[in-house]
Amino acid sequence: MPPGPVAKDGSIPAAKKTAGLYIHVPFCLSKCPYCDFYSVTDLKRKDAYLASILLEMEKVSAKWADTAFDSLYFGGGTPSLLSPFEVEKLLKTAENRFRFRKDVEVTLEANPGTVDRVRLEGYKTAGVNRIVIGVQSFSLKNLAFLGRIHTDTEAERAVEAARRAGFDNIGIDLIFGLPGQSKGQWLADLKKAVRMDPAHLSCYLLSYAPGTIFFASRASGIITALPQKRQAVLFLTASEFLEKHGYLHYEVSNYARKLSGRPDALRSRHNQKYWNFSPYAGLGPGAHSFRKNRRWWNLKNINAYVDQIASGNHPVGGWERLSTSQQLMEAVYLGLRKREGIDIRDFDRRFGVSFYDCTSKTAARLGQEGWATLSFDRFCLTRRGMLHLDDIAQALVVGLS
Ligand code: SF4
Repeated sequence: MPPGPVAKDGSIPAAKKTAGLYIHVPFCLSKCPYCDFYSVTDLKRKDAYLASILLEMEKVSAKWADTAFDSLYFGGGTPSLLSPFEVEKLLKTAENRFRFRKDVEVTLEANPGTVDRVRLEGYKTAGVNRIVIGVQSFSLKNLAFLGRIHTDTEAERAVEAARRAGFDNIGIDLIFGLPGQSKGQWLADLKKAVRMDPAHLSCYLLSYAPGTIFFASRASGIITALPQKRQAVLFLTASEFLEKHGYLHYEVSNYARKLSGRPDALRSRHNQKYWNFSPYAGLGPGAHSFRKNRRWWNLKNINAYVDQIASGNHPVGGWERLSTSQQLMEAVYLGLRKREGIDIRDFDRRFGVSFYDCTSKTAARLGQEGWATLSFDRFCLTRRGMLHLDDIAQALVVGLS
């Protein structure tokens, strides 16, 4: 299928938006103490999970028969615990069930402790064309603190092995803001990452999500979180350093290497769906789906998920229809996350308001403080503004409500 029309600014008109398919692989060798993604360490359930995913594809695909997909994302959990053969089976079945564009982006998240060149070559042969390696840090001390199963050497080797396996679209994930982390230590990670020349970098601030070990450790004083001011320094350090080294800071946590003449080519096509209100279908326990302002999610329990599928049911755990005010709130928040910011004409048309009339004082103040840039058709945060994203989004929403 030919790609749909693309506007001058690179955005795709809402009616023509292509969808993304997400497959959640809920297995990990061990649980990292900061992680709140759904995963289990009992790999014995893998076969039942795989059989269920195939059945879920069959069930779900009929509902998406009118939709073209241009991304498929294996996320987790640890998708690299699936063998290349298993990945190929899922991919081939997905291709038979869903309408994929020829140039589909197929991403697989890999944990450095689970891959070698042969395995990565297998993924490539299976049809994966983008690999995201969960490096998190190149410091052994940091990796031990984060409870990762891999070493600094394994992290480097995984990136090199991906390159030798033939991947040219390689992403590296990093975590910053560890307790006591200095600017110099963070820069050391960034420098090493840039030397490996990945197409894409994600830099996530260490979070203390409720229910995690780190949340409890912080609450009981075992861990002292990095103060906000120092987190801000590290965020700005990454943005400045990576922009200087040829990366486009295109979303709060994401950077894509700039290619001359194709500035958007190396962004994560799949993840942009979440920020652009594009439709996506999620398969597997805990996976979310979104279409036409309706969001639903699967049961976040592998046993319940497998049982529901075996009984011929949809494994849906809940759903919501976004009210207009929820849509408006999300449009502001998600728009501000992106370098392109909020598309004013699109926003005004969609919500029947004038963004600038409703937010004039706040918007002007943010502009004067150097936290936002205002133009006729865009309202964007600067990198300093991104540090205050939540507060700014809230202030704008108050004006728009
Ligand atoms: S490997 Fe990834 S998904 Fe698994 S526990 Fe660690 S951070 Fe979470």
